[in-house]
Amino acid sequence: MTIESNTSAAVGEHGSEDEPVFTTGMLINGTWRQADETFTDLNPANGRPLATVSSGSASDINEAVAAARAALTGAWKTTPGAVRGQLLNRIADLIERDGEYLARLEALDIGKPLAQPGMLDVPNAAATFRHFAGWADKIQGTTIPTAGAMGRPTLSYTVREPVGVIGAIVPWNTPLMIAAWKIAPALATGNTLVVKPAEDAPLSILHLATLIVEAGVPAGVVNVVPGMGSIAGAALVEHPDVDKISFTGSPAVGRQIQIAAAATFKRVTLELGGKTPQIIFADANVEAAVGGSAMGLFFNQGEVCAAGTRILAHRSIYQQVVDGLAAAASAQVLGDPFDSTTTIGALVNEKQQKSVLAYIEKGKAEGARVVAGGDTGKSEGFYVRPTIFADVDNSMTIAQEEIFGPVGVVIPFDSEEEAIQIANGTPYGLAASVWTSDVSTAHRVAAEIRAGAVWINGWAAIDPALPWGGMKTSGIGRELGYAGILANTEEKVVTVVL
Ligand code: NAD
Repeated sequence: MTIESNTSAAVGEHGSEDEPVFTTGMLINGTWRQADETFTDLNPANGRPLATVSSGSASDINEAVAAARAALTGAWKTTPGAVRGQLLNRIADLIERDGEYLARLEALDIGKPLAQPGMLDVPNAAATFRHFAGWADKIQGTTIPTAGAMGRPTLSYTVREPVGVIGAIVPWNTPLMIAAWKIAPALATGNTLVVKPAEDAPLSILHLATLIVEAGVPAGVVNVVPGMGSIAGAALVEHPDVDKISFTGSPAVGRQIQIAAAATFKRVTLELGGKTPQIIFADANVEAAVGGSAMGLFFNQGEVCAAGTRILAHRSIYQQVVDGLAAAASAQVLGDPFDSTTTIGALVNEKQQKSVLAYIEKGKAEGARVVAGGDTGKSEGFYVRPTIFADVDNSMTIAQEEIFGPVGVVIPFDSEEEAIQIANGTPYGLAASVWTSDVSTAHRVAAEIRAGAVWINGWAAIDPALPWGGMKTSGIGRELGYAGILANTEEKVVTVVL
């Protein structure tokens, strides 16, 4: 049975079953089939079984990689860029056609309020396929004048070729969107893929796979094998016939992947965690800054790599910011992802809930003060109430480590130099927000921040045309935009001795 066979009705009937409502397969070489083993994916909002998921083995990965390798040299190799672009546009059309269904899958599988995937994950995934559809027939090389060779003139030109078979490993927090970030540029440039969704949220990617088949992408070009990270994921990373791993997830796993990938000199793109500062200067529109910072803290339950979890407020407005964020936290409505009044849903699983609660206890033990939230707020499901800490020092654990839940810390600063020092004072470097009305301050500070993205007077202004990635522990390489084209191609130089 594929995911298609029993999902349509079930998405509307979430929450009431004691038995899994989905049974999912794997897509290998254009065919859906079951793995020998399965695992159970739970509904975060009530802790009950949601899906029986095929758990791909090393041998399933082996078959998927063989299919992707064969597809690389089949009809796909000679498919013109313009036709690849048409396929990508068709996938975008199908994502839009099934947008409501995909949004429901994300809400059900991850616990996020339904309006959020409708606003971000689904339209962003479609926009990403459209963006890379536009690139597909514009992958160009250059001609380079040289001094010639052995006394003869030469003609040298470069071409950009697909990297080959790409292993795409995806986390659970925004799976549809992140899968699109990996699949769209890889297809635009003529690669083939084996995609490994996260254990906790495979459903939307499996539905995306059905859309990729429906769009007419040839068999074997995109294979999707759900499974355990330590089994299916590790097999993909170690496989000698995989040319590149495009990974989004935690620094701990990213580190293991880079070490393992070195054995076969695989290319790697690592999109890892973050501890994004939101720097609010005294001249900022404080109301807008507090509102934007609250969104940066609580969107997707704070399970966002770029979540703006460290709010650095100038001392003159510190109390105003603390009060504003505490009020914003208390105003969040914790609840069923399918209730339209809910603004904050459940965390993805019990382990994540326990981890976030342990960080809250650690924050208290280290002397920070809870001004909002601090507990689960609900007896059923994996919830944590939006939590704000004041009296935080940047050296505290809650200011240094990625919590990946709705927990923010507010830290005062006295000068621009101190704000920059605190902002850069973690191992991470994914993103930062700067809130100020002074254009010079904005650009001066942006230049000093060690992060892959800096947003002025906003948070998470992402777009498929803009490069995305981190510095330091936040990762290696960039996805999206032209950077996504470069990351999915190898440059070859051809020289003719004339
Ligand atoms: P994770 O690292 O636990 O898992 C990510 C993926 O890696 C999953 O598919 C998992 O099955 C797989 N995996 C686990 N062990 C593996 C192994 N040994 N070999 C190969 N694959 C393995 O991360 P998560 O908990 O799913 O996601 C949360 C993390 O992702 C956070 O740190 C978050 O910041 C990060 N993230 C980063 C970005 C970004 O763009 N920088 C975006 C979203 C999430």
